[in-house]
Amino acid sequence: MWISFDLDDTLICYQPGSLYEPNRVPWWLRRWIREPLRLGARTLLRDLIAEGHKVWVYTTSNRPPREIAWWLWCYGVRVSGVINQSKHESVCGRQGPSKDPSRFGISLHIDDSWGVWLENRYGAPVCVVSPDDPSWADRVRDAVARRGRNERPEPPLDLPAQYRAMA
Ligand SMILES: [Mg+2]
Repeated sequence: MWISFDLDDTLICYQPGSLYEPNRVPWWLRRWIREPLRLGARTLLRDLIAEGHKVWVYTTSNRPPREIAWWLWCYGVRVSGVINQSKHESVCGRQGPSKDPSRFGISLHIDDSWGVWLENRYGAPVCVVSPDDPSWADRVRDAVARRGRNERPEPPLDLPAQYRAMA
């Protein structure tokens, strides 16, 4: 299946105490590629691809897609595509949801935002992982297994009470 990952606070975390993969960016690329990859992401993404899934990046930032692809390539991860804000707007317009993975053929999206979960509760399933969750990769694996059984991910733990009824 096609699985997309958010960048900020999902694959790229700058919270105090955030843990990172050892830097695998070659020195001659470090001038352009500086961001750290969240600990656990390398094995998770490589495993998903080895299992036959396609990994995408879906970010509301305007980082250049090629830089994101190179950045992950340094970690041995070949992404199938990158949707940044301008790509998103070219397909979904400026109104509407901040992210709409189903419009891009994506079956499961991983994000830190419960708002994205809420926007897509009738669309592509969204698995919400917190930037401070050390077992985040296991939550993603669980969501992938659930999606394979046509089940939706658990609602996010930080979903405000007034939205619980929608879960
Ligand atoms: Mg985010």
